[in-house]
Amino acid sequence: MTEQVKIELTEILREAREQARFLGELGVETVDLSATRVVQAPDALLTKPNQSPAGDAATPAPKAAHPQALAPQEVLFEGLAPATSVFPRATETLENIWRDIGDCTRCGLCEGRTQVVNTHGNHSARLMFIGEAPGADEDAQGKPFVGRAGQLLTKMIEAMGMKREEVIIGNVNRCRPPGNRQPTLEEAAICRPFLFREIAVIQPEVIVVMGNTALRNLLEVREGITRIRGKFQNFRGIKVMPTFHPAYLLRDPSKKKETWEDLKMVRDYLQTNPPKAKS
Ligand code: URA
Repeated sequence: MTEQVKIELTEILREAREQARFLGELGVETVDLSATRVVQAPDALLTKPNQSPAGDAATPAPKAAHPQALAPQEVLFEGLAPATSVFPRATETLENIWRDIGDCTRCGLCEGRTQVVNTHGNHSARLMFIGEAPGADEDAQGKPFVGRAGQLLTKMIEAMGMKREEVIIGNVNRCRPPGNRQPTLEEAAICRPFLFREIAVIQPEVIVVMGNTALRNLLEVREGITRIRGKFQNFRGIKVMPTFHPAYLLRDPSKKKETWEDLKMVRDYLQTNPPKAKS
């Protein structure tokens, strides 16, 4: 085994341990690898017969970013309209929308904020996450989910086998409410149309709404997040998965397990369906 191969194997093991530790934190007890596409190792990494490399069992096969058509789609989404069928096609760009938002003074939240925090990430992402409103770190840095809750969100995305740069992340409100209070219904209603315009441009295949504010501003539902989480919903033809907000998970880590169940459904949907052509 060459020195380079040893370094690579050590790095793979380190990443697998880190992933296993985080999945453990999320409450995951077993990992189902049946939907994992095995990537052929380069010859140099293959062991000879009879050799049993240390750490074999602990090292899951690397996952392809978007493995396609791995298994028949499960019946999870029965009854939902097909994705991208209903949402009107946008003729603008995210930059147009952000220009319209400008140095916004449409509601009182502008008085306490440092800057407007627009949606951030991959403009043609398959997966979008929506939270409530910026906190202190986001207000200072001008990007959504960069504080402690954001770091947890990044770990959750990575646990799904994705990179943060692959997805797009936004909020119902773009200005930090004083003392991080929940935005009022009026504040949310003023800001929300910009989010809807963004969704029309991005055309994500799945949206994860995190917490009650995101849930209630996207979907007309009576139930709160605790009742409705883990069940795919339909927002104008786009699949929506409601789950707990990462800030809530920081306060009550026991809810990480349910959140992971919800995110696995999203991961499995994206992995078993080839990316949709955007219209
Ligand atoms: N909480 C949110 O809802 N959004 C952020 O951007 C950060 C924390």
